[in-house]
Amino acid sequence: MGRFTLPRDLYHGENALAELSNLKGKRAVLVLGGGSMKRFGFVDKAVEYLNKAGMDVKLIENVEPDPSVETVMTGAAIMREFEPDWIVAMGGGSPIDAAKAMWVFYEYPDTSFEDIIQPFSFPTLRTKAKFCAIPSTSGTATEVTAFSVITDYHKGIKYPLADFNITPDVAIVDPALARTMPPKLTAHTGMDAMTHAIEAYVSTLHCNYTDPLALWAIKMIAADLKNSYEGDMEARKNMHDAQCLAGMAFSNALLGIVHSMAHKTGAAYSGGHIIHGCANAMYLPKVIAYNSKVPEAAERYAQIAKFLHLEGESTKDLVKALIQMLRDMNDQLNIPQAIKYYGEGGVKADTSIIDEKEFLAKLPEVAKNAIGDACTGSNPRQPSQEDMEKLLLAVYYDKEIDF
Ligand code: FE
Repeated sequence: MGRFTLPRDLYHGENALAELSNLKGKRAVLVLGGGSMKRFGFVDKAVEYLNKAGMDVKLIENVEPDPSVETVMTGAAIMREFEPDWIVAMGGGSPIDAAKAMWVFYEYPDTSFEDIIQPFSFPTLRTKAKFCAIPSTSGTATEVTAFSVITDYHKGIKYPLADFNITPDVAIVDPALARTMPPKLTAHTGMDAMTHAIEAYVSTLHCNYTDPLALWAIKMIAADLKNSYEGDMEARKNMHDAQCLAGMAFSNALLGIVHSMAHKTGAAYSGGHIIHGCANAMYLPKVIAYNSKVPEAAERYAQIAKFLHLEGESTKDLVKALIQMLRDMNDQLNIPQAIKYYGEGGVKADTSIIDEKEFLAKLPEVAKNAIGDACTGSNPRQPSQEDMEKLLLAVYYDKEIDF
């Protein structure tokens, strides 16, 4: 038996934000990040629409990037006092992810964070509120997924929470919000979306329901990301839809070891974070080469290449063409091909902010953590400790994969 879960309603396209005025309820909290939504006037608009719907609105502001357990608990306490029947989260991945977790502790005050770390173990939600998500970046697709990433800073661990209970009820995918993204964020989030779609397509849990979404997302991202990065707002609009399609696919098919490696290398080094989307963009070509040693996976990658009309007769040549296309995209987006060239903020540099000695010293531990990541189970090839160490060396030095 398979399960395929999406939001009940998805509003997309110009002026989709106005659908907030058709929500039915008495009170709404609006969960927000650092302030860009306010600066660009979207907070005022959202409040106006919610008021028009007859709701009182309370703002929960300043959710930080990589939101903490404390932020989640504080927000949940505000919700318990205000008693909203709608939780509306607007912004990048962080405020939406935080709001999803707040929702759990609003409805179940006696539950602890430890109780929900285990995937698919959440209590039944929607006893007090429904959830509406409005993304302003084109990458995480958290508006349609069953996932939320919350960081326990005391333990120094990022927890990917997973449960279909936190798949939103309503997603509003309005391209106006995505127009505010600067180019670098557009590049990184766009390659995150590409990785979601490709990993979902070759995942061991892929199915007839997720395949068309993944393939179409890949086609759109291949066609539109570069133009979106260069400021073409029609392409930006397409990217906002494409990342959402990718999200529908991976929320149900799950991901693979590109994400396992990105999760566990992200905050592992003292030189700075490796930005999630940028890490995925660097690791994806190497993981494709590694996974394609499994014939079934190679066949799936070749199907993607054919769908994109890439050149090649044999499966091997088609996989190669796909890898080359992704590397070309990295070049066009000013994304480094390997950690060795990873500069501050994820731009290409001659010297990496990730120290080579530290990287090598932490190699066994990071490899072990990556193997243990929740995304490894659905990867088409299960890596040994030796494989994962070699993969990590390959993504540091931009080495060929020959194992
Ligand atoms: Fe991702």
